[in-house]
Amino acid sequence: MHDLAPYAAHPKDTRGRQHPESPPQGRNDFQRDRDRIIHSTAFRRLEYKTQVFVNHEGDLFRTRLTHSLEVAQIGRAIARTLSLQEDLVEAIALAHDLGHTPFGHAGQDALNDCMREFGGFEHNLQSLRVVDLLEQRYAEFDGLNLTFEVREGILKHCSVKNAKLLGEVGQRFLDKTQPSLEAQVANLADEIAYNNHDVDDGLRSGLITLEQLKEVRIFGEHLQQVQNLYPNLNGRRLVHETIRRMINSLVMNLCAESAALIADADPRSIQDIRERPPLIRFSEAMQQRQFELKQFLRENLYRHYRVNRMSAKAQRTLRELFGAFIQDSGLLPDDFQQRSKDDLPRTVSDYIAGMTDRYAMKEYQRLFVISEREL
Ligand code: MG
Repeated sequence: MHDLAPYAAHPKDTRGRQHPESPPQGRNDFQRDRDRIIHSTAFRRLEYKTQVFVNHEGDLFRTRLTHSLEVAQIGRAIARTLSLQEDLVEAIALAHDLGHTPFGHAGQDALNDCMREFGGFEHNLQSLRVVDLLEQRYAEFDGLNLTFEVREGILKHCSVKNAKLLGEVGQRFLDKTQPSLEAQVANLADEIAYNNHDVDDGLRSGLITLEQLKEVRIFGEHLQQVQNLYPNLNGRRLVHETIRRMINSLVMNLCAESAALIADADPRSIQDIRERPPLIRFSEAMQQRQFELKQFLRENLYRHYRVNRMSAKAQRTLRELFGAFIQDSGLLPDDFQQRSKDDLPRTVSDYIAGMTDRYAMKEYQRLFVISEREL
């Protein structure tokens, strides 16, 4: 590995784990965290959870799993360029979506509505719950017992109310300080990944077209470049040549802008990083272009009537599941029934959030449709 910057998160200086463990052998603490995440049940479920398109709509759309791998790839490239700790970025990237509900944003909105009177539902907080509590694999503790640095990176946003309940990992939302640069990188790598793959999936689905996208500056400029170089190119190759250039320009811009900001701020340690304003940023011009693309996707893809129809069905499904379990905890599987004695709404929320898209659809069938083949 390259030399780490003095202000990077050095694994040997980790603030450690909630339950003391002997140090890892043959790998550093962040590599151990990454390995634990990859072996978790919640990680395997990402394969059958989606963001925009529901899993059964097509085999080629991104799932939360492929999304997380793309975030890790982009994040590591940025970390390497900036001499930051790659393993930490990778661990945060692979874990950042573990707490997502089935059916993407629609599912999360529905579950948040259902949980309104019971403390709400935030997917970042849920990702932390998964790694701190819900995974049950180790003899000596619940959860994965990850390092502080990975946990703070997972908790990207948090309300002040929840931050007060979280102790050390919530403190920065009260102090208004920043997380490590590695966490900041993972956060923006997420943004680069989803904007670009949503363009790709959107085009593939036919819900948005090249004609429309031409008008969006960041896409139009790169499309023009490709067409100048390859006047006869069309179809998937034209789309991919454009998108790879968009990703590259975003990554290069982020690295250049951040390197300049870091040089200016002259941090000497990770403590300096926490006390400075965020130092991982796009240039103003690039930020504006990203914003235009996001706006375009929101108006034309995320609110497309065919996406709305699927979202409405997804929300109805989750609401009805939630209602059924709250009315009769006897419908929950045994282990969740046990836990529900302490806090029924939170247990139901954990159960539903853990479902994959297809598990939620099956569970709906099992609860609401009488068929000849029962149980
Ligand atoms: Mg994400």
